Amino acid sequence: MPINLPETNQPRIVIAGAGFAGITLAKRISNKDYQVVILDRNNFHQFQPLLYQVAMSGIEPSAIAFPLRRLFRGKENLHIRIAEIDSIHPEDKYLMTSEGRVNYDILVLATGVTTNYYGNKEIEKNTYSLKSVADALYLRNAILSDLEKALTIREDDIRQGLLDLAIVGGGPTGVELAGSFAEFKKYILPREYPELDAAQMDIHLIQGGDELLNSFSDEASIKSRKYLEALGVNVITGVRVNSYDGNEISLSDGRKLYTKKVIWAAGITGLRFEGISESCYTRDNRLKTDLYNLVIGLKDVYALGDAAYMEESTYQGHPQVAQPAIQQARLLSNNLNGLVKGKAMKPFHYKDLGSLATIGRNKAVADLPFLKTQGFLAWLLWLFVHLKSILGVKNKIFVFFNWVWSYFTMDQSLRIMIRHKTRMNNE
Ligand SMILES: Cc1cc2nc3c(=O)[nH]c(=O)nc-3n(C[C@H](O)[C@H](O)[C@H](O)COP(=O)(O)OP(=O)(O)OC[C@H]3O[C@@H](n4cnc5c(N)ncnc54)[C@H](O)[C@@H]3O)c2cc1C
Repeated sequence: MPINLPETNQPRIVIAGAGFAGITLAKRISNKDYQVVILDRNNFHQFQPLLYQVAMSGIEPSAIAFPLRRLFRGKENLHIRIAEIDSIHPEDKYLMTSEGRVNYDILVLATGVTTNYYGNKEIEKNTYSLKSVADALYLRNAILSDLEKALTIREDDIRQGLLDLAIVGGGPTGVELAGSFAEFKKYILPREYPELDAAQMDIHLIQGGDELLNSFSDEASIKSRKYLEALGVNVITGVRVNSYDGNEISLSDGRKLYTKKVIWAAGITGLRFEGISESCYTRDNRLKTDLYNLVIGLKDVYALGDAAYMEESTYQGHPQVAQPAIQQARLLSNNLNGLVKGKAMKPFHYKDLGSLATIGRNKAVADLPFLKTQGFLAWLLWLFVHLKSILGVKNKIFVFFNWVWSYFTMDQSLRIMIRHKTRMNNE
């Protein structure tokens, strides 16, 4: 059954995914020339760079989740349908979703990526991931309920397992989470859980490569490690996780670590949709595109952002961060708007604006095209860039207020456990 959508004479552009790429495109596409349909499994856009702060009770989920209907309020000829995309049928130009069939004239796939467990089902089942607001809230509950449970436990080894945690993956997500946990241990734990010995909490950061932040400069990699070690994080590099059964992590160098909480931030992979031929995908499931983001081998199907793989200039696929997604979406909107006026499409060229990662109070690393810096200045830059990128004035103000408050009080007040009643009953 087709999904209920108004029929018009304009060509229909279906945008699959309302992430950075999807919303940038939808905002800029001409609604006089095209009917725009946005499909997403969520009714909100999520700002992934600050998910770790939700997990650490630093900011409220609503500050980084922006309702799509509000974002596109008043935009005519644009329709939002909340649905899970299941398969794509390029020959007949339609998608199948959880809610039914959607026909398209032009399809833009901007569905991002998902966590990569490299086929290890045990690790997938037993670890936490951090890709969505739901993941962040689930992790927040686990952190808080493990601390509460630790207070009720008499056996030292069981209590230790509840206090300790390991983060796998030394990219920006792993580094930012580890720094945030270390500050939690230093500032919050002694004040709010005085019956627990904060010194007992071990935070392990495990990285398969030889250095942290391997897409950053050497200075940034070295400095981030120094910062984390000074905060008491046990940084383990050059070692892979072989298995984790919910209690014991087995490392490739033979070491074993014991913890109830492992956060998996060690890789991402694109999403494969039934109906799109194998040859359209790279090994890590990105869709191969030409310089106009058109999926090679398909007609009228474009891919943007994390989901797309484009070879351009020195890039064998752009970094899977927000800027390529935004820049590609801007260009595609110009190209599609120009198409109806008979203008030729322009090829994509990525402008690298640099990379930032924060480790904690006054500590960050910044690799910008004109400046490499670490410490307070980098931290200020990180604050500014993230605040600027959050959608909505109210959200900017709330997040800014939260940051200022926690900077001076070293506290946040969002440590609330919200659990489903059947889970609570089962525990
Ligand atoms: C924890 C974390 C921290 C990050 N930190 C930074 C950072 O500091 N700086 C930076 O530049 N980048 C950062 N990134 C990366 C950045 O968020 C991504 O590169 C960016 O979101 C990519 O945008 P996108 O539009 O391609 O995909 P996304 O923003 O991931 O959007 C994909 C959308 O598709 C929807 N979707 C997916 N599959 C389906 C389906 N089958 N059916 C329906 N809807 C679907 C999703 O719900 C989502 O809304 C971070 C990512 C994470 C996870």
